[in-house]
Amino acid sequence: MTGPVRVCPECGRQFEFTDPAWRCCGVPMRLAEPPAAPVPPAELAGRPLTTWRYAEALGVPAELWRSATLGEGITPLLSAGDDISVKVEYAAPTLSFKDRGVVLLIVQALAAGASKVIADSSGNAGTAVAAYAARVGLPAEIFVPDSTSPKKIAQVRAHGASVNLVPGNREATAAAAIEAVEAGDSFYASHVYNPVFHLGTATYGFEVWEQLGGRLPETLVLPVGNGTLVLGVTRAVAGLLAAGLIPTAPRIVAVQAANCAPLAAAWRTGSAKPLAVESSPTIAEGIAIAAPARGAEILAAVDEIVTVTEEQVLAGRSELARRGWYVEDTAAVCWAAARASYGAWGEVVVPLSGAGLKTGWTPASPA
Ligand SMILES: [Zn+2]
Repeated sequence: MTGPVRVCPECGRQFEFTDPAWRCCGVPMRLAEPPAAPVPPAELAGRPLTTWRYAEALGVPAELWRSATLGEGITPLLSAGDDISVKVEYAAPTLSFKDRGVVLLIVQALAAGASKVIADSSGNAGTAVAAYAARVGLPAEIFVPDSTSPKKIAQVRAHGASVNLVPGNREATAAAAIEAVEAGDSFYASHVYNPVFHLGTATYGFEVWEQLGGRLPETLVLPVGNGTLVLGVTRAVAGLLAAGLIPTAPRIVAVQAANCAPLAAAWRTGSAKPLAVESSPTIAEGIAIAAPARGAEILAAVDEIVTVTEEQVLAGRSELARRGWYVEDTAAVCWAAARASYGAWGEVVVPLSGAGLKTGWTPASPA
């Protein structure tokens, strides 16, 4: 087995797993194979308590995965009352859900014979690339906006990666990373451009399905910036449906910060592409993406896109902490949205996507 094949949606050219190419005609590549599913629940018993229990849907070589894994996956799913359950994604090796996808990017870097990896990130993906690259002994260079939380930058440096702090917004950071990739022969471990990442984030959907006893809730609420979790989870849903493992698809609701909401603006007007909107800084740094490269793909994949205000995020983070879950600001957006829906979405699962220890703590103003 060599691994998942990617395809350029513009010209149809296919790229083998061992090919480090990350772009073709300009539109981000997609996975060539149709969405796959895990084996039925009864057959999953006794398998490793990592994302590797869904090996049939990952499709990457076992020996490479074994050398790269840090034990990602199988995070707790807990009821929080009021028909809301939380999936504690910060119980991951590098404290965010990004580990699910990054392990596969590093597996591909190994398969492609890379001697170095480059990644750009708002923080958490860069942290994960630094950790997984360290696990396999590959040097890593990570580009982040200079406004990134100092604790995330410290985490990247601790793994031995070099850090480039880029002035300006998230798009400027991506441009700087791409320039470095083009100038050398590093593997671009991009969670935005490389669809192999979505095979990893699909395991979030598989886990919810397995943890609920072989079903999905009425609604999955997911954060959306570049769509790395949304596009994986919608792939998981499609795979489970095609395999006859669920009868119908759940409602997929994506959440943006009101201060930076090009996808929500498009959804409201019925546009198939993200709208160019005025954006202002948001404490939800992990989803502050003004021009998402996969915007049209995300808009086609979700049922609804809503926004939450800065005040709602802060209040949500405080409310979660008072219940025992200490999350970073971005990780409170789905909780805040689900609370604001007042039960309209039925049974809901929300991810707590990143740990509170990654950022500072801004107390919400007293209610
Ligand atoms: Zn092409």
